[in-house]
Amino acid sequence: MSDISSKIINQRFRRKDTHGSISMPIYSSAAFEFDTAEIMEDAFLGKSGEHYYSRVSNPTVEAFEEHIKAASGAADVLAVSSGMAAISNVFMTIAHSGANIVTTSHLFGNTFSLLYVTLKNFGVEVRFCDMLDPDDVARHIDENTCAVFVEIITNPHLEVADLKALSALAHSKNVPLVADSTVIAWDSFNAKRLGVDLEVVSSTKYISGGATSIGGLILDHQTFDWSKSPVLGTIAKGLGKKAFSARLKGEISRNMGAYMSPQTAYMQSLGLETLDLRFKHCSEATLQLAEYLKTLPRIREVNYTGLPDNPFYALAREQFGKYQGAMLTFSLDDQAACFAFLNRLKLIRRATNLFDNKSLIIHPSSTIYGTLRPELKAMVNVPNNMLRLSVGLENVEDLKEDIRQAL
Ligand SMILES: *Cc1c(COP(=O)(O)O)cnc(C)c1O
Repeated sequence: MSDISSKIINQRFRRKDTHGSISMPIYSSAAFEFDTAEIMEDAFLGKSGEHYYSRVSNPTVEAFEEHIKAASGAADVLAVSSGMAAISNVFMTIAHSGANIVTTSHLFGNTFSLLYVTLKNFGVEVRFCDMLDPDDVARHIDENTCAVFVEIITNPHLEVADLKALSALAHSKNVPLVADSTVIAWDSFNAKRLGVDLEVVSSTKYISGGATSIGGLILDHQTFDWSKSPVLGTIAKGLGKKAFSARLKGEISRNMGAYMSPQTAYMQSLGLETLDLRFKHCSEATLQLAEYLKTLPRIREVNYTGLPDNPFYALAREQFGKYQGAMLTFSLDDQAACFAFLNRLKLIRRATNLFDNKSLIIHPSSTIYGTLRPELKAMVNVPNNMLRLSVGLENVEDLKEDIRQAL
């Protein structure tokens, strides 16, 4: 099946529901009972694939994970309680005290804080370099590097690194490429084709659709050879390229206790069915808005990878195709101008989050990055005259009118 919506919608449940339910019921149960002690033992040993406790696995969440596999082509998927849980579970699985992570300081705010503040206290070093310069990346990798980590379009700088080049470089040094692909939906983004080994996604964003719930996904493409990893090498002897998911599911996820709830999986399964339609529609609307914003004299700069004069246009087209997502940024004179503009908006909501059905706008410097210490704020380099807009499903003409009147 070629179409991503057909793939998702055609996905059947592992076992037919007792009542033939066409949408996956919410199995809101902490535990599952067994007819015999022997069957119960098999479940706990992972021999039967039966669910026994919803911190470990759950039928509703499993169905969602299977749908994500169909949509993304990933070999293994784990659904967790937030995008941040996805990122922290990945690093808990592949990092160790003494390891380092090679990345850029241009990261989503909490990811920056997780790597630079939280993991540092566990002896994991983060090395910031310029992801747009492969030589600089190469200089920062050594024998203790456990990952090269990148956001496929950085939020909110909207920079695009060459993933194939990064992947070749990382693999030549026996390091996996881990990518946060939250901002582009499948199949516009095909991680495997671009050499990404592990993918993390905040399913709070595009997948949940109507911003109904917080969730995260870890996708294992099983493309990386873990045999030389200090923490996965032993598992890889028996399980080869499945070593990452084996440790993630068998140890880390259940110990961290951030598995997705069945209620969230239910809501996000509904969102997933319309993901492709919404992503394409909102991407087209965002390009139209970006072009419109460029015509307005009070707007200093418009940043969107779908604009032909954007420095990342060619690379972004090559990696993601025609649809470049629903996030753009633009700048006004200063913070005061941004605040005055925000306060005059009537349709576009002043709210954080991305890729809701509603258009959302935020001043990142005073909010998402507002609590960072000044020296850290300087490192992430988010200008205080910049606004980030996430384009929803409203008519584009109505959005244009709201922006025009607020300016
Ligand atoms: C929102 C976001 C996250 C964090 O996801 P949560 O679901 O809010 O925990 C991580 N990375 C990117 C790029 C995001 O936009």
